[in-house]
Order: sequence, then structure tokens, then C-alpha cells
Amino acid sequence: MPTSEVLSERLLPWFEDQGRGGDDLPWRQEGTTAWGVLVSEVMSQQTQVARVAPVWERWMRRWPTPADLAAAPTADVLREWDRMGYPRRALRLQECARIVAEKYDGSVPSDPAELERLPGIGVYTAAAVAVFHYGARHPVVDTNVRRVVARLGGAADAGTATTKADLAATEALLPDGAEAAARVSVALMELGALVCTARKPECGVCPVAAECGFAGQEIPPGPSRKRQRYTGTNRHVRGEVMKLLRDADGPVPRERIDAVWPDSRMLDEAISQLISDGLVGTDESGQFELPSA
Ligand code: SF4
Repeated sequence: MPTSEVLSERLLPWFEDQGRGGDDLPWRQEGTTAWGVLVSEVMSQQTQVARVAPVWERWMRRWPTPADLAAAPTADVLREWDRMGYPRRALRLQECARIVAEKYDGSVPSDPAELERLPGIGVYTAAAVAVFHYGARHPVVDTNVRRVVARLGGAADAGTATTKADLAATEALLPDGAEAAARVSVALMELGALVCTARKPECGVCPVAAECGFAGQEIPPGPSRKRQRYTGTNRHVRGEVMKLLRDADGPVPRERIDAVWPDSRMLDEAISQLISDGLVGTDESGQFELPSA
């Protein structure tokens, strides 16, 4: 495992050379509020940043503060979420906005532990807001960082969830200054995304190979992590129903929903899940619509 000094020396020049630190992303521009950063991180949790960027820009123009989002009709929030997938995140973001507006007077907390108590905010998102907006010195650990740090320490991979040990191991690799520490965190993410990938680490071109406990070793065969299929899945059916309701001018009768998917059993299951998740409601005549709250 390298010292924090050696890691910075090797990693940061490589990172600068990559020239893709995401600095052109709209939420990285000067003047972005803590709320804007939080929204960008929630949207990016399970959606590629290229798809997030235009939605984020529309969203922040329409609801620039937590109070604006808190007061918005939930149906509008789900329409603006558009096709980013996993729309329960939009509901949790609105719950989060209500808490920030009411309990924190509209100011996003800066303490990672307090951020983690907000709906939809996990360890990574809390740390990202604290570090990238508030300038805290704190480990920002996503899947890529976890894997790189585990390999620097000699393991083939990290576990599936971030543990206290992962946070401590990453923290030990950060330089003392908060700004440099944030840069190292982003560089570690980039190294994991581009070089130290899950199945094929390219140790031959890795800037930290000389300090790495796993350099040059084979990844042991494990259960192959197939790309998650979407077509034909329950998630696909749910997505089609949500699209129909987002695009509709008013409540939709069951016959129109039946037309979006041929398998009625899958459709029934998807509709009852959407209702129990709070993503779909029914009006007094039993027609379907986005939630009216
Ligand atoms: Fe990953 Fe190989 Fe670099 Fe180690 S040397 S961090 S295993 S790419």
C-alpha cells in the first residue's frame, strides 16, 4: 500500500493528463449550490452522467431550491425525471427537499453523518456533497475507489458495500489538504473507471503499479457479472407504464395500459408494485395517473 504522498505524486500527474475530470459537467460550474450538487449526485447514482446533464439543467431551472421542489406537484417531479430510470429516486429527492426546507431552513447540511440521515442519501452521496461542495477533507468512496484501494492493499477486489474499513483505508491515502484530498478522490474514481477495471486491470499502464499489492496478478474467476438485462424485464414493463402516464393528459383507463405490454400477468405485477411504491395512483373512477400529492 503506498503512502499518501507517494500516491499523490504518481496519481495526480496521470489524472491531469487524462483531461477528463468531468469539469465540463454543468454541476461542476462555479456558483452551483449545495442543493444542485446533491441533486446531481442523486441523479447520477444509477444513470450515466451524459443522460443526467440535460435533465439536471431543466430541473434546477424549474426548482432551484429545496423549497421549490418541496412545493412541486409530485406528478410534475416524475415527469421531469423523464426516462432516467429508478424513479423512486425522484420521490426520495422530493422527501429530502421537504426535510431540508423545513428542518434545515433550506440549507443542505455539510456534515456527512447528517447528510446520510436524509432520504435517498447514502455514504457515497453524503461524502460527495461534503467534499465537492463544502470542501471537507473526507474519503469519497464509490465502487471504483473501493476496488482500487482493495487492490493497492493486495486483494483482488473489495466487498459489495462500503465498510468502515474501506473508508479508513481510503482516508489513509488522502493528502492533508482538503482540496488535494478531493482531487485524489476523483483521480482514484477515474483510475478505477479507466485502468483498474473490475475484470481487466491494465497494470502495464497503471501509474501506481510500482506501489500496488495486486499489480500484475490475475483476477480469480468468479461469478460473471453480466450486464443487467432490461428488455422484457419487470423494470421494462414498469418503465413503459410510467412513460404512458407521464405523457398522458389526464387519468388513463386500464385498456390503454393493457396496450403497452402483451403479458397481463407481468403488467398486473408491475402496476401493483408502482402503486405500492407511490409512483402511480388511481382517481375516484379507478383510472390510473401519476400521484397527485
Ligand atoms: Fe489496479 Fe493493476 Fe493499477 Fe494495481 S497496478 S491499481 S491492480 S491496475
